[in-house]
Amino acid sequence: MKVFGSSGVRGVANEELTPAFVGRVAMAAGSVYATGEESQRVALGRDTRATGEMFADSAAAGLAAVGCDVDRVGVLPTPALQAYAEREGVPAVMVTASHNPPQYNGVKLVGPDGVELTRDALERVEGRLLAEDFALVSWAETGRSRRVERARSDYVDALLESVDRERIAAADLTVALDPGHGAGSLTSPRVFRELGCHVVTVNAQPDGHFPGRDPEPVEKNLADLRRLVRSSDADVGIAHDGDADRAIFVDETGTHIEGDAALAALAGAELDAGDTTVSAVNVSQRLVDAVDRAGATLELTPIGSTNIITRIRELQAAGKRVPVAGEGNGGILFPGYRLARDGAYTAARFLELLADRPASAVAADHAGYHNVRINLGYEDDDERARLLERAGTAAERSDAASTTLDGYRLDYGDAWVLVRPSGTEPVVRVYAEARDPDRAESLAREMEAELLAGG
Ligand code: MG
Repeated sequence: MKVFGSSGVRGVANEELTPAFVGRVAMAAGSVYATGEESQRVALGRDTRATGEMFADSAAAGLAAVGCDVDRVGVLPTPALQAYAEREGVPAVMVTASHNPPQYNGVKLVGPDGVELTRDALERVEGRLLAEDFALVSWAETGRSRRVERARSDYVDALLESVDRERIAAADLTVALDPGHGAGSLTSPRVFRELGCHVVTVNAQPDGHFPGRDPEPVEKNLADLRRLVRSSDADVGIAHDGDADRAIFVDETGTHIEGDAALAALAGAELDAGDTTVSAVNVSQRLVDAVDRAGATLELTPIGSTNIITRIRELQAAGKRVPVAGEGNGGILFPGYRLARDGAYTAARFLELLADRPASAVAADHAGYHNVRINLGYEDDDERARLLERAGTAAERSDAASTTLDGYRLDYGDAWVLVRPSGTEPVVRVYAEARDPDRAESLAREMEAELLAGG
């Protein structure tokens, strides 16, 4: 697929992604969603981005043009839109660029089961889009929009009923929360207050200019949160990305917890012998160790939630139990709750782990590995191809075991390196992990040098 990457459609607003293009995506999606029998209802939501309303208006027009009635649910986390879609049995369109910088926006498509569209369904939408094969209706049959106010609060209510409220409340936690000006600003403060926590916040006003920090919840963007944890003597810090389907944590000393360590802790608590979990090809040894300890099985996919969800569906269809899955970027799924990543739900499950022990102790179980990530920007497709070709050559020359599930992963036994183009930004990423920080750093730098050599 060309148009839909591993996370839907993304681009810089009014450069790569225009209102006209979003309207065409919506016409294509609406044409696929429409059953043909009665007027199809479609839910439409967005995150807090400055261009969100503009693109949501385009999407609403595109959907109406192919006869869909639109439930405009406003600004909300992606998992809240997914919850609405599932409850109402309607497909959905989410205008979001998730963790990308403020100038980006994008579109994510959700089925009437509340789950991201499958690859097959996305290919049907893409086929219609590229062929401009839109099921336009006559003027008298064009769709109507209505505002729906309850989607956010219904999502929070359902979430609160799905976690161990008593256990969390009994722990009497102070939670420092950084929704990063994103959609979680409108839901997560209430989630943690109603779970009985004392909640302090930073960057918690919805603001599409993201004045406090960029939407990506990575360590370099979370200095405010670490400070807030220390100054408020909080038990834990929680950060979301722009559409709040991810959660990243800070321990009670104000130290960043690697997303891979949190994933391993949550998976370790959830997995029983015989279970299966799914992660991506950049999986940390931390999760591998936790899965081994549980006597469970780990399956790997290419990076991106669509791939992970597709694999979970296949495993479930084959009768496997998959209680938890996800990636070290904070995007974690609990399929028994919902087949969707959910930052607030993930964080609530993490709070359950803090009933007996401080966050630093939970993280310490999964310490001992060091990760390095380098982003190499490229200007055009030729440069991207050259970078990947050199990665292929390096993989061939190396005596490490290599995997080409997604990019090139080299396993050295004590360490690994992965080279892979981002699905959402014009960068090739180099990942490395080792027990020894110098080893991780030198493996990443050696690979970077290989990629930049020649010319
Ligand atoms: Mg996201």
